[in-house]
Amino acid sequence: MADSGIHKTGWTNWSGNQIAPDAQFLQPRSEEDLRETLTQGEGPVRLVGAGHSFTPIVATSGTVINLDHMGGVVCADPQTNTATIRAGTRLKDLSPELEQHGLAFKNLGDINVQSFAGATATATHGTGETFGCLSSEITGVRIMKADGSILEGTLDTNPDLIRAAQVSLGALGVLLEATIRLCPSYNLHRRTSVEPIETILQAAPERWSTHRNFEFYYIPFSGLGLNISHDETDTPETERPPSDDEAAMAAIKSMRDKFKWSSFLRRRLLSAGFKNTRPESTIGPSWQLLATTRETLFNEMEYHLPVETGLDAFRDVIKYIERHQRKVYFPIEIRKTAGDDGWLSPFQGAPRISVAVHAPADEDHLWFFEAAEPIFRAAGGRPHWGKLHSLEAEDLSGLYPDFARFTALRRDLDPEGRFMTPALARTWGES
Ligand SMILES: Cc1cc2nc3c(=O)[nH]c(=O)nc-3n(C[C@H](O)[C@H](O)[C@H](O)COP(=O)(O)OP(=O)(O)OC[C@H]3O[C@@H](n4cnc5c(N)ncnc54)[C@H](O)[C@@H]3O)c2cc1C
Repeated sequence: MADSGIHKTGWTNWSGNQIAPDAQFLQPRSEEDLRETLTQGEGPVRLVGAGHSFTPIVATSGTVINLDHMGGVVCADPQTNTATIRAGTRLKDLSPELEQHGLAFKNLGDINVQSFAGATATATHGTGETFGCLSSEITGVRIMKADGSILEGTLDTNPDLIRAAQVSLGALGVLLEATIRLCPSYNLHRRTSVEPIETILQAAPERWSTHRNFEFYYIPFSGLGLNISHDETDTPETERPPSDDEAAMAAIKSMRDKFKWSSFLRRRLLSAGFKNTRPESTIGPSWQLLATTRETLFNEMEYHLPVETGLDAFRDVIKYIERHQRKVYFPIEIRKTAGDDGWLSPFQGAPRISVAVHAPADEDHLWFFEAAEPIFRAAGGRPHWGKLHSLEAEDLSGLYPDFARFTALRRDLDPEGRFMTPALARTWGES
């Protein structure tokens, strides 16, 4: 086989909940290397970006391929606000490179270490009523199919391919390049503040419509939430204060450890500790403020809910936790994303409110997520493809009108199931 860069055995994801101890891990440096690995390596073959998905969509007993050595911007056009990028590139490397062309992503999620291909394969999103998920900005693709041949298309030449490839779970082939819609680079004014959660819930619809980006977190057992908003600005940049997220997490955990026997005491102490938190106000380049870093390892479930039911489902989750689950301490995150028309986009058809629950990676999470999931499902939720859920083909086909079209295209592009693992077979309803 050609020199395929780093070659080792075994792979694990970011939180450590997905492992592939026997997989061959390869990082090709060219399309030729990739083709050889793809067609001759031990199957099933799976692509991996940053390994930041919690679901079993990468792990395989065969070969894991990573494209970190095939990154960069192919071309960027500030006239049309578009760029063609190598899809294995990490978002954190793309942003500064695009900035040199006066361009930026319209939106980003909480972090930016993901690869573009990995992030879009699961419909990674940020928050903002007028912004779709990252995948919805894809207008052209260049894909290497399981047999090593190349398939190209744009929204004009092959709209079905684009709608399918926008959110693909890596099932159609290797995304080599994508053409994407961007916007002129911009600065943001980031503001944070702590308020009673009921105040935030009442104001949330208005805050989503007045701020460019708005989200909030609930600190369990505190009655308090954290508002985070971002708005475009031309005023001079300010220095960003060092993040105190990790210190806050440590304090919230310590309250859980010491006072989980008394919700009353825990609420009083958390509320006293957080209600006078100083608001943050920072101005800087969009990509530096939208994304942050996460040091504490966790596992996560996130459901994307219809706007009509999203906030009530969130209330039900809080009610459930505070009555029955005193172990929970990780903040719950609530965001909003615009609708799109990707075949497997959870935002297909209409905007959605996303509610995310977390548990530390070194503690069991099943007891919590298994209780939250029925609340999300009853509210009409679709799960984040990269975050934990229990749905299989039968459930998923009922949630996605284009599910059958996607699986038919998948079979067409990968008839031998080269990209198919047992876990993905359950997702697609294949043997
Ligand atoms: C700390 C943390 C914070 C997060 N924050 C957010 C957030 O704010 N918003 C959000 O929506 N999600 C968030 N996520 C989830 C994350 O964005 C997604 O799981 C995303 O898919 C991870 O990107 P990745 O590069 O790690 O992809 P991976 O997890 O490595 O792969 C994801 C999928 O992409 C496929 N893939 C990778 N590369 C290719 C390729 N070249 N061609 C074809 N298929 C490919 C893989 O096979 C797999 O199916 C977060 C996750 C973590 C751990």
